[in-house]
Amino acid sequence: MIKLIAIVQCHLVHQRCPGYFCDKAFVERTGGFENLDLAEDVRKLSFTCGGCCGRATHRKLMTLKEKARKYDNIEADEILVVLASCITKDNHHGPECPHHGYLKELIAKTGLAVSCDTHISKKAEKNRELGIYKT
Ligand code: SF4
Ligand code: SF4
Repeated sequence: MIKLIAIVQCHLVHQRCPGYFCDKAFVERTGGFENLDLAEDVRKLSFTCGGCCGRATHRKLMTLKEKARKYDNIEADEILVVLASCITKDNHHGPECPHHGYLKELIAKTGLAVSCDTHISKKAEKNRELGIYKT
């Protein structure tokens, strides 16, 4: 069961996005938060990849893992890393992150589980169907 969710957002997009819809999707358990096995008192925090190429993600997650265990007895297998939709998908902020695969590799090295997507916009989904957005 997941006790802590760590949302990783695109550093470039975050310069103008406060992450409102990521939070809304989490609260309403929609988009990438549907069907997850979450503890009732699951906690959520958000931070960015640190900028291209995203390498800071590894350091941030290793620190998170250590703090969660030390201060709250949350083990690594109770943490889920969620890559925000601005990383995983083509959307109005721009195309999918060119380092998406690399970010996943970095997360794999931390030993933490990862899932893709936070908020899924209806309009963006329509544009995907129409082929305007590629992913
Ligand atoms: S997924 Fe959307 S709401 Fe979340 S950080 Fe990216 S652009 Fe902002
Ligand atoms: S590595 Fe990807 S997610 Fe991070 S700032 Fe660059 S484009 Fe955004």
